[in-house]
Amino acid sequence: MSLRDLYTDVILDHYKRPRNKRAVENATHAVKGHNPLCGDKLDLYIRLEGGIIADVGFTGQGCAIHTASTSMLTERVMGKPLAKVKELIDAFLAMLVESGEADEEKLGELIVLQGVRELHARIKCATLSWHTLDVALFGGGVEERTDTEGLEVGA
Ligand code: ZN
Repeated sequence: MSLRDLYTDVILDHYKRPRNKRAVENATHAVKGHNPLCGDKLDLYIRLEGGIIADVGFTGQGCAIHTASTSMLTERVMGKPLAKVKELIDAFLAMLVESGEADEEKLGELIVLQGVRELHARIKCATLSWHTLDVALFGGGVEERTDTEGLEVGA
């Protein structure tokens, strides 16, 4: 099995059995995300307690890349303090949108989504939930980042 197949398997596993795909009771944050290029729709729910993500979940509909990325996001930020969450968001967006450099130590399993960078039209599928999380917790400041650069609209 090649590394690429392995990555595909991880993505498909999260797509078929998304983790934390549910609304969160007593959510302190609920934010919508939409990727019109693909049609991915996201409702992201977070319950923040004492600066820690006590619970996180999502509902909505989207493609395999979006669903897998969001499922992995929820697993990774569950129980984490805000500072760690921000570090992870920045590392993930750097891998797909900015420098293209992947900090494997920080990203762990999320590295499987690195290949999406080559599929320009799908980058937003992978980053939608991360931007939405950033907006929900940190007010974003990322709404129109450069992830549409080089995008083949309609591709
Ligand atoms: Zn998509």
